Amino acid sequence: MKAAVCTDFHRPLELRDLDVPEPGPGQLLVKLEASGLCHTDIHAAHGDWPVKPKLPFIPGHEGIGRVVKVGEGTSEALAGRRVAIPWLGTSCGHCHYCVTGAENLCESQVNSGYSVDGAYAEFAVAYAHGIVEVPDGVSSFDAAPLTCAGVTTYKAVKLARVTPSERVAVFGIGGLGHLALQYARLVGGFTVAVDIEPEKLELAAELGADQVVNARDTDPVEAIRAAGGADVAIVLAASPKVFEQALRSLNRGGRLVMVALPADDAALSVPIFDTVLGGISVIGSIVGTRADLAEVFALHAAGRTEVIAERRSLETVNDDFEAVLAGKVSARLVFEF
Ligand code: NAD
Ligand code: ZN
Ligand code: ZN
Repeated sequence: MKAAVCTDFHRPLELRDLDVPEPGPGQLLVKLEASGLCHTDIHAAHGDWPVKPKLPFIPGHEGIGRVVKVGEGTSEALAGRRVAIPWLGTSCGHCHYCVTGAENLCESQVNSGYSVDGAYAEFAVAYAHGIVEVPDGVSSFDAAPLTCAGVTTYKAVKLARVTPSERVAVFGIGGLGHLALQYARLVGGFTVAVDIEPEKLELAAELGADQVVNARDTDPVEAIRAAGGADVAIVLAASPKVFEQALRSLNRGGRLVMVALPADDAALSVPIFDTVLGGISVIGSIVGTRADLAEVFALHAAGRTEVIAERRSLETVNDDFEAVLAGKVSARLVFEF
């Protein structure tokens, strides 16, 4: 099978012809139809974060395909089903987090395309415990970005407890941001889109953003405060400076939701006095659960969200990484097989 493999954090991915893997107990073999390119895959391939993947590995955690083989002890009923392989490849199923519906916080989780091989390949092994079935009303092409960009921003909006008419500032209108805007609007929020690329802001306006701010030429804190301040700020651009801007744009009672993951072990300085007196919340948000993803698919099948993405084939993966880093893609890139 064709696969893109990361062999070195300082070199491009290698396209290789590999043997199709065998699913073990509790696992499934999935023949991929679509696989999204999340910015996390670039962080993974560059070894950006304090905990690095073990080389070599196949990135990719927005994989959609059909189950073509089930491993020992795995339900035969899954054969032929169309499933999503998310970042949360599997979780232990019995810790405090897993049994209270917070499996995204499980300390024994396995991460697709990071701690195990992912979906930048024609076939991938998935865990029966971790997959989510894709409903008929959602194409594989659309399901791919929803599997990480969708579920992650859906969860961020949920954790922020946005109420109708609150102002939600979304910093970074990329793969995640274009969906964050839509979920914030779905729950009745007014939205502010912040980016540094004019094309991204045009897209945000088309998607219904109430205010757009180009942070390259306008101070987003001033612009947001002039419009009444943000009740919620969701950070989807991987730069510590953006986290500071988002925090400073908040009204009293505001919630900062941290989603982007800058390189190294970046820190944010939070002023204690203003945070206490202003009743500010600082929230970390990591992907979403299987139930969250099923809700994301249901909303999409009902026509409530729109996925903006461009088709690619795995051969161009290294150029595609460059295009994403340069902010030159409409929202998401999806490899099709
Ligand atoms: P992306 O590259 O598609 O989008 C990032 C956007 O930020 C781009 O539109 C870019 O133009 C914009 N941007 C860059 N600098 C900016 C600035 N100074 N001000 C405003 N906007 C700016 O990336 P993505 O796939 O949407 O992922 C975004 C981040 O979220 C990455 O760090 C990724 O690793 C992280 N992520 C986190 C989770 C999680 O569960 N917490 C899940 C998925 C992705
Ligand atoms: Zn667990
Ligand atoms: Zn992702």
